[in-house]
Amino acid sequence: MKYEAVIGLEVHAELSTKSKIYCSCSTGFGAPINTHTCPVCTGMPGALPVLNKQVVHYAAKMGKATGCTINQLCKADRKNYFYPDLPKAYQISQFDVPICENGEVFFYVDGVKHSCRLERIHFEEDAGKLLHDEIDGTIVDFNRCGVPLIEMVTRPDLHSSAEAKEFLEMIKTTLSYLDICDCKMEEGSIRCDVNVSIRPEGSTELGTRVEMKNINTFSGAVRAIDYEIARQIEVVENGGEIQQETRRWDDVKLKNTVMRTKEDAQDYRYFPDPDLIAVEISDEWLHQIESEVPELPITRYERYLNEYGMTAMEARLLSDSFEKAELLDAAAKQVKPKAAANWILSDISKYLNDKGVSLRETKMTADKLVALVKLIEAGTISGNAGKKVLPSMFETDETVEAIVDRMGLKQVSDEGAILAIVQDVIAKNEKAVADFKAGKNVTGFLVGQCMKASKGQGNPQIINKLIASELAKL
Ligand code: ADP
Ligand code: MG
Ligand code: ZN
Repeated sequence: MKYEAVIGLEVHAELSTKSKIYCSCSTGFGAPINTHTCPVCTGMPGALPVLNKQVVHYAAKMGKATGCTINQLCKADRKNYFYPDLPKAYQISQFDVPICENGEVFFYVDGVKHSCRLERIHFEEDAGKLLHDEIDGTIVDFNRCGVPLIEMVTRPDLHSSAEAKEFLEMIKTTLSYLDICDCKMEEGSIRCDVNVSIRPEGSTELGTRVEMKNINTFSGAVRAIDYEIARQIEVVENGGEIQQETRRWDDVKLKNTVMRTKEDAQDYRYFPDPDLIAVEISDEWLHQIESEVPELPITRYERYLNEYGMTAMEARLLSDSFEKAELLDAAAKQVKPKAAANWILSDISKYLNDKGVSLRETKMTADKLVALVKLIEAGTISGNAGKKVLPSMFETDETVEAIVDRMGLKQVSDEGAILAIVQDVIAKNEKAVADFKAGKNVTGFLVGQCMKASKGQGNPQIINKLIASELAKL
């Protein structure tokens, strides 16, 4: 029998607010343990939480970017459970009235557009971290306790690990476009739970699902999903039945094991947190939030394909980075998009990678990029000279023209001056002339000699043209 996989994801993203969700402690990553703590985030009795407004703002922004309805009146609920990294023994989350509902995320897999509905987005607090040490035993670090998260819960609309991966990539790109999450996967800024079931191909009923929690890389999610689909098919093919359970994915051993079954499923006894008042988002605030949502990555991707005539690969690389996309679109108002894109995809990307910086940390601007492209198009400098100019464009406030002058890179396009060089080179290279007369192609060699003689500043098109006409005279 053929089977179809059905996958739903619960994605957690840490919001890049300066302070925590219910206290003013820092959210900074990597501080010495238990230094970003206070009575609120360590769950001291009687401490009172105060909601960080920025969390509401960011969560609603993601909702707006994913076509959700925003519940302008929502609330915080307690989700009760015990674990040593949760000092209050409850997590403040949202239960029946999440801040955002009924969204949809679009993405491409191998050139085909897919969509996945979002059931909800809610905000909640992160738990602390348990550090297991061989000598000291287990240490509880509360620095992460109270770091704000949004949880995005999908409908079971995904059908392969490849779809799940592209969906996750699109969530990540969208978060970075909105500037609400640092998206540092290595710091656990985005984590997900994957829910997997299978059903006979053609069936529309949902099979029994298995959940795997807290997967912190997208490639790990792919491996976990592929493993689980194969496991379920094997169980069913052997006459068994899938149990509704939570399994722990081990990304080193590449297998999963039962964590808990339906029987010991937890009852979280959700109830509204009596320490917090309802959250109200005014129309005015919501409009403000909406106005901050930029053109989305998928829209740009499609525009780069259809309007700029880029390849899928180029469009993807450019639309994946908000900064690069912004630079491209600003430059494309004045020069050919392809010309600007080539610089961004090659030398500009290389510089940023090599230096480990983002565009906004440099002095590069769209106007400078436009000036560079125009100087090359006008033949004032060569493409090679452009590469030499680039570092200064990132590092100084000089105009591109000033850098070109300072570095002496202006191309010689004066035909008279170039003709003198060409004639001199031909006169000095008797062997090349003899080869030419014997029917050999010596143009490349002569161009090289002329470039050398002009210290690399001769306009190669003019050199080529003049060599051809001088040789023709022989
Ligand atoms: P819980 O909160 O217990 O994890 P939810 O009903 O909120 O349960 O579902 C969590 C996730 O499981 C959602 O992303 C949803 O799309 C997914 N899901 C639900 N049913 C199935 C199924 N039969 N197969 C795959 N995924 C499913
Ligand atoms: Mg779940
Ligand atoms: Zn605190």
